[in-house]
Amino acid sequence: MRKPILSIALCSLLVACAGAPRKSAHDSAAGASAAPAPAGPAANDNLNAVAWTQTAIEHDLVYREVYRVAGEKLRAALKDSTWDALPNRDRKQPLHSKLKPAVIVDIDETVLDNSPYQARLVANGKAYDEFTWSEWCREKRAKPLPGALEFAQGAAKRGITVFYLSNRAQDLNGATLENLRADGFPVENDGVFLGLGTVVDGCEQNGSEKGCRRALVGRTHRVLMQFGDQIGDFANVLANTAEGRQKAIAPYMAWIGTRWFVLPNPSYGSWEPALFNNDWSLRLMGPRRFSFERTGDTFWIKDVQNPSDRSHAVNYAMPYLKLTEDFALVSRVLDPVTERMVVLAGGLTGYGTVAAGEFLSNPAYIETITASAPSKWAHKNVEVLISTKVINGKSGPPKVVLAHFW
Ligand SMILES: [Mg+2]
Repeated sequence: MRKPILSIALCSLLVACAGAPRKSAHDSAAGASAAPAPAGPAANDNLNAVAWTQTAIEHDLVYREVYRVAGEKLRAALKDSTWDALPNRDRKQPLHSKLKPAVIVDIDETVLDNSPYQARLVANGKAYDEFTWSEWCREKRAKPLPGALEFAQGAAKRGITVFYLSNRAQDLNGATLENLRADGFPVENDGVFLGLGTVVDGCEQNGSEKGCRRALVGRTHRVLMQFGDQIGDFANVLANTAEGRQKAIAPYMAWIGTRWFVLPNPSYGSWEPALFNNDWSLRLMGPRRFSFERTGDTFWIKDVQNPSDRSHAVNYAMPYLKLTEDFALVSRVLDPVTERMVVLAGGLTGYGTVAAGEFLSNPAYIETITASAPSKWAHKNVEVLISTKVINGKSGPPKVVLAHFW
């Protein structure tokens, strides 16, 4: 938690930056008895992070330090034909002399600074959403982060292709490439932007994971280095919990600062949901029949009416592509805070989440639970336990295991 006194001070700074009228100390003292103190801006979790990003010299120095160290290692990486920065599971194409050299950089908060967008959210009391994010990207005003441009240009001069592997949506490719080019980043061709939605033949991408796109680069290139502000920029994370994140990075610790270069992002990232075991929706669920549980490598759905039953479980130690069955919950519950109905859907893995989404989007599946539903069920809370068979890395149709109304 941030200290309240610091937040108050930073609120004042942000208001000043935003051009809002402020009284001088003299005015405040003189008018103290004449008018109530003006209400300050609402507390905002992102304020301190944005202030650090935009004003702390330490922020700039960390970026310069990382890119400088990387630049100094580039020559050795280029000369060593065994040097490769792809994690084992993404290196499908064995290394050979005909592979061209490349580096993979994430875009946001790795080479481009989007803190003006974050500041805009803070100043307007808004949270991130796809629409305002898309608007910001289309403005093409993101500036290079310290050291990034010099590194990328230096790499290009050595004949190294810079790939921009980003979770910006593929439809933002035009604006993003224009932004990068206008800033002076080397863009060999439009194909070096690999955004979210890039189709990779023969590779099943799960959500926003970047593994398939890394593997795609590896088909034609030896990847000397990777840069990012999330560990998902370097390797896939099977379970986004503190422990799962440690596990994903553990085999590659020796590569940190040599092949993998990590940059700081205090504003947002996968570290946030990991704080809550990835369960943002817990508050909305309240007391309920089913819950997601974890015992060691086993993630399972607990039924309070049969708590010893572990049949709805997935073992995370098993390779993701070898899973044969997954389970999910779909809940429609009254949020006690907003007094509105909220629909939640999630699986033990991405396969279950896909099946839950299919259940919600097809009325035929909804009808399968209405036959056993109590009267006036449309006004009640409902939880649905779903199973799905996984075949060759793809989820099958959702199957209702049990529906519970209350
Ligand atoms: Mg990023």
